[in-house]
Amino acid sequence: MPKYKLEYIWLDGYTPVANLRSKTLIKEFDSFPTLEQLPKWGFDGSSTRQAEGHSSDCVLLPVAVFPDPARTNGVLVMNEVLLPDGTPHPSNSRATILDDPGAWFGFEQEYFLYKDGKPLGFPAVGFPYPQGLYYTGVGYDAVGDIAREIVEEHLDLCLAAGINHEGINAEVAKGQWEFQIFGKGSKRAADEMWVARYLLSRLTEKYGVDINWHCKPLGMDVDWNGSGMHSNFSTTYLRETGGKEYFEALMAAFDKYKNEHIAVYGPDNHLRLTGLHETQSIDKFNYGIANRGASIRVPHSFVNAGYKGYLEDRRPNSQGDPYKIASRILQTIATVPTK
Ligand code: ADP
Ligand code: MN
Ligand code: MN
Ligand code: MN
Repeated sequence: MPKYKLEYIWLDGYTPVANLRSKTLIKEFDSFPTLEQLPKWGFDGSSTRQAEGHSSDCVLLPVAVFPDPARTNGVLVMNEVLLPDGTPHPSNSRATILDDPGAWFGFEQEYFLYKDGKPLGFPAVGFPYPQGLYYTGVGYDAVGDIAREIVEEHLDLCLAAGINHEGINAEVAKGQWEFQIFGKGSKRAADEMWVARYLLSRLTEKYGVDINWHCKPLGMDVDWNGSGMHSNFSTTYLRETGGKEYFEALMAAFDKYKNEHIAVYGPDNHLRLTGLHETQSIDKFNYGIANRGASIRVPHSFVNAGYKGYLEDRRPNSQGDPYKIASRILQTIATVPTK
């Protein structure tokens, strides 16, 4: 029987942003293990801000499994954290997501590659030439030398792991990139996003490069873009029934709960949602057809189909927890009656 390297991955208890943690368990299986075959495991919660020292055991419950293409007989195991009594740990944001197999999410993760405390490709002193030619750019001048190697390797790792990666683009700032993950089922895209983030952070170790997930790493005082995680969503009702009346009621609910949404859309978002750089300001809610300066962008296709399809919430930022984002969006949708 082959020995598998099971990499158990979970989110720690740091606030406002949880960190990814992982450790390896070696176990024999006849063939690649299914989720049901994977045992619960534990860790010392006192080292991850999830428990006090005198009673520090936390439980890992496997919830999603992927092949680990970077390791021989490797397995990536995403987990929820439970208390010893089997109930969800307070830090367990995944456990708050309503079960809905008809809910689909597409997350567009933006991030900066960082080296020596600044974006990859920035000169030792000052700034490179202003934004303009970096977005979807080609050539050493636009993207540098190793960035594309990293993003291509990350893409291949995700695809080989069975993650539903949908694409890549170089972003507006030098050293800034995006990838998109789409999933069907209320938790699937978020699970895959966390594993894709894990793979990216692990991959860049050998390059001496870090991922800066902060939404405005260069600050507000310079004309450099921040990073978002636009969250595209749909439900069975939105895709199949929809309608202008339902859509307007839904947007009224999003307006009503705008503070609750912002609260889980990632820290420091006031630095990014300023009304500039294709954003709406943080204290306003609006929606607009094909409007990239709106809180929610309504694709042309949605209107053309008779107010059916998916919507894009542009407010979540790059450091947002996709579990909390999916959870909040579905909670707000649930307040709006369907016929
Ligand atoms: P843009 O940069 O123009 O906003 P992207 O192509 O980067 O567009 O992202 C669009 C996202 O919308 C993708 O992640 C895609 O998977 C997602 N998406 C498409 N259709 C649906 C749908 N029916 N429900 C939820 N998400 C969807
Ligand atoms: Mn995009
Ligand atoms: Mn983008
Ligand atoms: Mn987008």
